[in-house]
Amino acid sequence: MRFLPVFLDLQAGPVLLVGAGDLARAKLRLLAAAGAQVRWYAIDGHHDLSGLEAADAARIELATGDPLAVDLTGVIAILCAGAGAIGPLMSARAKTVGLPVNVMDDLAHSTFIFPAIVDRGDVVVAVGTGGTSPVVARRVRERIEAVLPSRIGDLASFIGRWRKAIHGRIAEFPLRRRFWERVVDGPIGALVLAGRTDEAEAALRNIADPSAFAGAQHDGKAEGRVTLVGAGPGDPDLLTVKALRALQDADVVFYDELVSPEVLDRARRDASRVPVGRRVGKPGIGQDAINILMIEAAKSGQRAVRLKGGDSFVFGRGGEEVEALRKAGVAYSIIPGITAGLAAASQFEVPLTFRHEALRITFLTAHKAKDAETVDWSALTDEKMTVVVYMGMTAAPSVRAGLLAAGRSPQTPVGVFARVSRPDAQAAVGTLEQLPDLIEQIDGGPAILIIGDVVAHSAPWRHSNPYQVISELLEAAE
Ligand code: SAH
Repeated sequence: MRFLPVFLDLQAGPVLLVGAGDLARAKLRLLAAAGAQVRWYAIDGHHDLSGLEAADAARIELATGDPLAVDLTGVIAILCAGAGAIGPLMSARAKTVGLPVNVMDDLAHSTFIFPAIVDRGDVVVAVGTGGTSPVVARRVRERIEAVLPSRIGDLASFIGRWRKAIHGRIAEFPLRRRFWERVVDGPIGALVLAGRTDEAEAALRNIADPSAFAGAQHDGKAEGRVTLVGAGPGDPDLLTVKALRALQDADVVFYDELVSPEVLDRARRDASRVPVGRRVGKPGIGQDAINILMIEAAKSGQRAVRLKGGDSFVFGRGGEEVEALRKAGVAYSIIPGITAGLAAASQFEVPLTFRHEALRITFLTAHKAKDAETVDWSALTDEKMTVVVYMGMTAAPSVRAGLLAAGRSPQTPVGVFARVSRPDAQAAVGTLEQLPDLIEQIDGGPAILIIGDVVAHSAPWRHSNPYQVISELLEAAE
């Protein structure tokens, strides 16, 4: 991000506009409509105010003289549109005095740029692409326009009017936030969005006990809870809608090492983020300590999210955490996530079941050779069973030995799928016999192993067997 979106207070002073023609007039319209005072240096000497509302035109000062020499005291920003060669010179001058400057269509000489704007009164959304593509910014704006209720600005001003009064009645910040969430998400918010603001005002005035309305507990604190959220395999687009909502509502997020930064980024900006998993070279804080942290957070009225890679209940110790929360009498809920095995199957086109070929799936973990020794491989001999192995990289030789000893064919197709759903995802496919070599081909985990005939349907298998691709193409052509 080169340009940080911020909002400029147009009441603080005039904006200097340098330029002429249609380009300058377009910017003039934008600034005037936003309520800015504009000091306009029309470099061709032609101040054309046609098409502007009289009230807007009244705020435009028609300046003359050399803009490169004028006094800049009190000016809040400089804008050059249709200014030709004066643009870069003006930019240099602005920079010497530290004023933000925009030279239209000239990123090199601009220290701020204009976003595409969604304007709903007090609610303003700015969309930027760092100056790379206004067309993309406009498309994004259209999509936002489509999902924002038209009276969302009214809702913001409604809350603005009541903020102080409620602040006086609910001292605690977390509870106050809960209060406004219930207003926004409940019937009062719906009334405002429906244009029935008077009724909304009356309903808010009728709330006798704002703390109780906000869901305060008997100790006067907000109700705390823990939500176990499955973060999926890494791609934030694979979060569920519910997971996203929980992340947006969180006061604190306890996350594991498998959670990608992109997913963590979807949490509410001011939520605290607490890593509790293993870090590179460092052990984690341990399950008991994690349980204590979650319980303490919930008991202090916070909404805690326990964020785990994949799904919490698939080799994620979610079961133990839920038990600890239950014992402590803490409210909790569980939101599933896409587990790595399923994500790998989709990304690399491995149908985990296939008519007549694969009728069962087993998910197992083989973290260490020792774990692998405790697996009852004889239960996995069914040729029509797809085996999905978590944490199986280091124990790959034992996995192979176990399955071969149990009688599975050395020719059974196998896939190693690493960093699934991430930009650097990687696959290696071959036969059970080659499994340890396949692991060697992978540039680091985490990785899932899938073992079974279905791997022969996968995209990497097809690509590594050109004859298969050719025969499929020929078949299709017939
Ligand atoms: N709860 C997680 C699994 C945790 S166990 C889930 O449901 O996915 C950790 C193992 O998950 C890793 O050793 C690896 O086998 C697998 N894994 C997790 N994320 C992965 C990813 N993005 N790509 C491949 N394997 C992954």
